[in-house]
Amino acid sequence: MGRKNCRKKEKIFLMTFTPEQLKTILLRIIDKKPNTKIELNFVRTKTAAELHIFQPANRLLLSEYQKLTKSKEIPQLPWLEKLLKKADIRSISGISVVTSLVKPYTCPGKCVYCPTEVRMPKSYIATEPAAARALRLDFSPYEQVKQRVEMLEKNGHATDKIEYIIKGGTWNAYPLKYQYWFILESFRACNDLSRRGKRRIPLLTEKNSLEELQDALEQEQRYNEHCKHRIIGLTLETRPDAITAKTIFHMRRQGCTRIELGLQAPDDKILDLIQRGHTVEQFEKAILLLRSAGFKVDLHFMPDLPGTTPDHDIEMYRLLFEKETLRPDMVKIYPNTVIKSAELYKWFQKGKYKPYGEKELFRALSEMKMITPRYCRISRLIRDIPETEIEAGNKITNLREALSAELKKIGKQCVCLRCREIGRQKENIDADTIPQLFIDEYKTIGGTEYFLSFEDANRVAVFGFLRLRIPTKRSPDLTPSEEEKKYRTQLSLLEKFLPENKDCAFIRELHVYGKVVQIGKREKKDSQHKGLGKQLVAAAEKLCKEKGFKKVSVISGVGVRGYYRKLGYRKIGTYMVKKLK
Ligand code: SF4
Repeated sequence: MGRKNCRKKEKIFLMTFTPEQLKTILLRIIDKKPNTKIELNFVRTKTAAELHIFQPANRLLLSEYQKLTKSKEIPQLPWLEKLLKKADIRSISGISVVTSLVKPYTCPGKCVYCPTEVRMPKSYIATEPAAARALRLDFSPYEQVKQRVEMLEKNGHATDKIEYIIKGGTWNAYPLKYQYWFILESFRACNDLSRRGKRRIPLLTEKNSLEELQDALEQEQRYNEHCKHRIIGLTLETRPDAITAKTIFHMRRQGCTRIELGLQAPDDKILDLIQRGHTVEQFEKAILLLRSAGFKVDLHFMPDLPGTTPDHDIEMYRLLFEKETLRPDMVKIYPNTVIKSAELYKWFQKGKYKPYGEKELFRALSEMKMITPRYCRISRLIRDIPETEIEAGNKITNLREALSAELKKIGKQCVCLRCREIGRQKENIDADTIPQLFIDEYKTIGGTEYFLSFEDANRVAVFGFLRLRIPTKRSPDLTPSEEEKKYRTQLSLLEKFLPENKDCAFIRELHVYGKVVQIGKREKKDSQHKGLGKQLVAAAEKLCKEKGFKKVSVISGVGVRGYYRKLGYRKIGTYMVKKLK
């Protein structure tokens, strides 16, 4: 079959839902009577997987429900209507997330568990929801972003603050021109959705020169600072051995604020066995460089890999927070699964690899949740791989909810940042709670991290937080550690690439939670725009002065530069910098 026909067939399979399929899902939801949107989404996902279709949007279910109630095939159910209309889950963290995928390309890695599909970027499966969308749109960054923003708007989400995540293999392995073009097109999509009148920035392709692409991107970024759909954060996925002072420089220029970095296991023997192609030390160097440039790091950890045990997984996870060289801001815990297109499938068939049972995995994950410190956010606990693609390994799709329920039964609770976000804890604190400022301090290689947060007195709910880094070598009363001395050359190089950060402390992240409050509007109930952000910045600046720093640098997303300008910061290079008085 020709490529074109094949695409066409996929399109029908992926995107069309028959009334019968929608009705089946609705009847299952009615039967299970979920109480929350999360529970509803779980039933929807599971039923869709059984029907071998992708999840229909709640908006489609709602319209089918309305037809069926009109024809009296199902009764009017106000609780169901309310759940289907409720549009606050995606934006519960205060931002709307938009994801796109890069085109298929080779990755320097040879990881045995990694799916390999020729039509997909390495590690992605065509049936994953975001991947399916990207494939359908021929991996066009413009269309992926545009259609996603439009869809979010249609479903009732505010889209003025966008956390943009670019997925697929190793970002830095792609040609530099492709990288700049991809991001240029993404910004153009957001800007075009709010642009009035003709655009003056010419349309460019990958064939244009690097300088032209970089200039055009700068122009689109400047436009984005004030437009309706602002990109307030940009996340890129890459490998530790791809992180150098130079790649960091380019990623900053592209507007990146957060890096997803695969470690998988802090154990060289396991890394060797699974053919990761890098060591733990290389990861440590990467995280030091990234933090020294103010980036946030989302570390990927994989339990149940070949060569480990549940107890060893727990110990390795503990190490992530004990070692000063690691201590990530966020973690994605992806229990290993066997996918047919991965090398690991052959190991599995030959009996060379056997995944844990559900019980063992559950025990290990529960322990991990209890180990996670307050400053770290478990951003994911499972990868979005359709059950039908998994040959062996975890198939529980609502792992996070199941774990929370299990911990609750034994009177325990995860204190990771995500679990304590105010949007998830509203029922557990008084409505008139006045947030208090807490400051947690922890050492990392090359600096001290301060996690400033506004929480209720019992630290059940977090209203907002700020990550401040005080670099060790800049503080007059502290000397560089042995470990830091090891990475001196790369750190000096980093200073040359990013001179704007000389003698600066870093605000690496500022986040005030609540349902997205549109820029310029105020909502009484939500914590965004209530001045908590300003107070956090003021507290951080005070701390910097106490530690002997006269300058603060913010790794600001393009869409929040204006916010920092109002607080006295100005753009120098790719950062927002303020001289403290
Ligand atoms: S580095 Fe990532 S994308 Fe590349 S092979 Fe390994 S898991 Fe797959």
